[in-house]
Amino acid sequence: MNLNRRILSCIILLFLLALICIIGVLEKEKLPVSGRAVKKDAGKKIALTFDDGPHPFYTQQLLKGLKERDVKVTFFITGKNVEAYPEIVREIHADGHLIGNHTYNHTQLSSRNQESFKQEIIKTNEAIRKVTGEDTIYVRPPYGSWNKEFEKELNMFPVLWTIDPLDWCSSDVSCIVKNVCARADENDIILMHDQYKTTVTAALKIVDRLTEKGFEFVTVDELMFD
Ligand SMILES: [Zn+2]
Repeated sequence: MNLNRRILSCIILLFLLALICIIGVLEKEKLPVSGRAVKKDAGKKIALTFDDGPHPFYTQQLLKGLKERDVKVTFFITGKNVEAYPEIVREIHADGHLIGNHTYNHTQLSSRNQESFKQEIIKTNEAIRKVTGEDTIYVRPPYGSWNKEFEKELNMFPVLWTIDPLDWCSSDVSCIVKNVCARADENDIILMHDQYKTTVTAALKIVDRLTEKGFEFVTVDELMFD
């Protein structure tokens, strides 16, 4: 090989190496733009919600576990239970969780009870305000039955759910955990009930597992107005 050819070979080799380096840098810069990398960095928000409480025993167990993990959730409580367990409602509020309205008697809205349903919402709001000193603007209508006109009339926002693991009819903790974790995605709202020991255990496991996967637990207001 003469000198010219050697020089030419070296130049081609250097050019190829430079090309490989440039492609490598471009690919690296492309990475955060797509896929889960960006989501993970930003923290995928997800909300745990608990209906029908507070429960005289299980709610406090749940509060303890949530405090240990520094996680905030949302409780949709009935007016009847607010009056029965005001000290637990006070604890929920003091721990920084969000409180929402779940009617006074856990009543399902129908075409025949529009007015009394509205009164239940108002009565529950008053009971919550009496205990926490704060108004709530979030309502989870039992069974998801709602009348859009109430939003303006009562100045309340309905909060439904995207994941329902049917925790109330299962005594299998790992089944509930798997059901939620397999489906969990950014901005999901998980429906649970702090009325059972299995729910408390499953909920805390869900928190641990999804936190490990890069999820950040928030109260529902953060998902609705973000
Ligand atoms: Zn309910």
